[in-house]
Amino acid sequence: MKKTLKENIDEMKDWLVEIRRTIHMHPELGFEEVETSKLVSGLLEKFGLEVKTGVAKTGVVGLLRGKGQGKTVAIRADMDALLMDEPGGKPYASKVQGKMHACGHDAHVAILLGVAKFFSSIPEQVRGNIKWIFQPAEEGGGGGRIMVEEGVLENPKVDAAFAAHVFPLLSVGKIGIYERVGLAAADRFVIKMIGKGGHAAVPHLTKDPIIATGHLITQIHSIVSRNVNPLESGVITIGKVSGGTANNIIPDEVELWGTVRSLTPQIREELKSRLEQVTRGVAQSFGIDYRFDFEYGYPVLLNDPAMSKLVASACSKGIGEENVEFVKPSMGGEDFAYFLEKVPGAFFRLGIRNEERGIVHPYHSSLFDIDEEVLPFGVEMFVRIIDEFLGLEIAK
Ligand SMILES: [Zn+2]
Ligand SMILES: [Zn+2]
Repeated sequence: MKKTLKENIDEMKDWLVEIRRTIHMHPELGFEEVETSKLVSGLLEKFGLEVKTGVAKTGVVGLLRGKGQGKTVAIRADMDALLMDEPGGKPYASKVQGKMHACGHDAHVAILLGVAKFFSSIPEQVRGNIKWIFQPAEEGGGGGRIMVEEGVLENPKVDAAFAAHVFPLLSVGKIGIYERVGLAAADRFVIKMIGKGGHAAVPHLTKDPIIATGHLITQIHSIVSRNVNPLESGVITIGKVSGGTANNIIPDEVELWGTVRSLTPQIREELKSRLEQVTRGVAQSFGIDYRFDFEYGYPVLLNDPAMSKLVASACSKGIGEENVEFVKPSMGGEDFAYFLEKVPGAFFRLGIRNEERGIVHPYHSSLFDIDEEVLPFGVEMFVRIIDEFLGLEIAK
């Protein structure tokens, strides 16, 4: 009897696990993914794809030109790890001190390689083109933006793009999909409260930036609650406050670092301008100066609703509607947003949670792990999506 798509893909599970663990043991930070990108390009070449390296420094692009005419679909994985230690214990724990794949990008790479292995074994059944995009530096470096600027969505022109991220809140075997708004715009700010330091015992001869900062923090936290429509969303978080050196010294300056998250351009601008207004007002009321630096980060990630529906229907055919959930937007950021600014497509979530095996920890936690069943599962989901988009009818 002919094997099902799932049975076919499950046969590559050991291979997928080995790739994921190899990458997991050798994590590399953004724009330094030299070994990861070598591993990727080596395999893509072995599969007979057209391969381009050095895109956005360490990015890799693979292309499979189908035998027949058709559309071009792109799928994307991010390759970078995080600046943190992984505790030992697991046989595949990070071998590099201070670096860890704690966001699952190792799994994203392995899954896309699985999809490449699958389609390169049946090139005669592909009509249109499939493009694989392995991007550097998702964790803040904006590698995706640079790849888009370097023309990764051209030659051949991409008609739709899809990407997935593993998701610790969803059980393995399920997918989550955003209908329209997926992830937030993620901007950064640095505020300097600039006073005049001096002896702690004679505060009247100084301009104390610490007390001004105390007031500023509480004022900032009134912005979202008082200026944003309660039915909309926004986040302002101050993640770092630094200033001062000793018990008996009033410092000259205090610096605050923070992030601003929003789901619409209007709220994005409103939060930015209120932040500066409040900073100016508080600084003025204490008679001190300030500096306000705001840096725009990743834009809001917007799925094309038709492409979201395509993902839901293609995946449902393999795993049943009960395992496909439409999920609410998240205030996290994701630089796949830059791809979706240019072409229609969808970003979705792959469940990795397994309570029995203790796989419940959030992203960026040193205890983060994935249920590796997601590897063949993820390959199957991408194969189904590509199959549906290009109209190949392989997954029947
Ligand atoms: Zn992350
Ligand atoms: Zn991530």
